[in-house]
Amino acid sequence: MKIQPAQRIRDLPPYLFAHIDELKAAARKQGADLIDLGIGDPDLPTPGHIVAELDRAAADPRHHRYPSYVGMAEFRQAAADYYRRRWQVELDPTSEVVALIGSKEGIAHFPLAFVDPGDVVLCPDPGYPVYAIGTAFAGGTPYMVPLRRDNDFLPDLSAIPGEVARAARYIWINYPNNPTAACAPMAFYERLVAWAHEHAVAICSDNAYADVYFDPAKAPPSILSVPGARDVAIEFYSLSKTYNMTGWRVAFAAGNRDLVAGLGKVKTNVDSGVFEGIQRAGIAALSGDQRCVDEMRDIYRERRDVLCGGLAAAGYDVLTPDATFYCLVANPRGVSSADFAARLLTEAHIVATPATGFGAAGEGFVRLTMCAPKERLAEAVARIRKLAI
Ligand SMILES: *Cc1c(COP(=O)(O)O)cnc(C)c1O
Repeated sequence: MKIQPAQRIRDLPPYLFAHIDELKAAARKQGADLIDLGIGDPDLPTPGHIVAELDRAAADPRHHRYPSYVGMAEFRQAAADYYRRRWQVELDPTSEVVALIGSKEGIAHFPLAFVDPGDVVLCPDPGYPVYAIGTAFAGGTPYMVPLRRDNDFLPDLSAIPGEVARAARYIWINYPNNPTAACAPMAFYERLVAWAHEHAVAICSDNAYADVYFDPAKAPPSILSVPGARDVAIEFYSLSKTYNMTGWRVAFAAGNRDLVAGLGKVKTNVDSGVFEGIQRAGIAALSGDQRCVDEMRDIYRERRDVLCGGLAAAGYDVLTPDATFYCLVANPRGVSSADFAARLLTEAHIVATPATGFGAAGEGFVRLTMCAPKERLAEAVARIRKLAI
């Protein structure tokens, strides 16, 4: 018998980092000292008080049974309290918050609640691939909205054709952004909420990097603080990047109660929630001392200054970020993103991600991450300086 995968699997786009992965494996085999600035996964450990809370909670048999599908009441309360403290947004924890097994899980499952075959979903290009793939898995049609440097990597809403907007169920946005590191000002969120009302399009805001910023005066907003946003928007908040908890799988979605309820309904039927010990640790993260987050910001700010300052001094066109642990570097003239990344790897042993891996509109840039110690970033800058591209 020949095993055939389903059409949705056969329709998946080719894995765009396959070539980089091959070059990486070859360089490693030759014993190269690779500096991996390709991965978007914090190298810093989860703060000790969060780990200690998991230790305590794991030993408590009350947490060994099936958790609630939508999250423990205390976890959802901690999420609501967080939004009140951070953004002065009042959420009803029972109807406006749902716990997620990481926000990727919620992003992937959301379309099962709101997309019928043929429905259009607006997805950013470049963008986190799960928006478009989740849409396609549900039988929907992603419509890619380009994010361009000359528009500060914000979607140009006026360029979305009327018939596309009318057919669209919702639009994905992600600020602070992966891969561009762009931030959205409140004025953009206000325009977007007005546009969404006008076109009857819901908004999904992926705010995974809300707290990875460098200057408190530029702390990223939440779309839920825009008046009227609660009628049209849901926001995904992840503990992964704020507390170095990517491996733990804990996040939540908050906002419009119908959008939250729909996502909750899917989850009730496909998973059984987040382990309560991890939710307890999540409560400790959200409600505990936030100095660990300040310390993380200090570390990334220092790394950013080493990497972006160094590359700028070497003559590269580098987009110095105010948030996230990413920075885009413009390709040297006449070089494609794929070639630039390949040359960084083979000639300088630096792993970079061509921004085209996140969509065709990423052409023109490679993405570097700051998930490496500053000494390694300084070494990366020194190697890049010696390159003659
Ligand atoms: C890292 C990241 C997330 C968070 O994913 P989790 O599943 O919560 O770990 C979500 N969106 C984007 C754009 C990311 O880069």
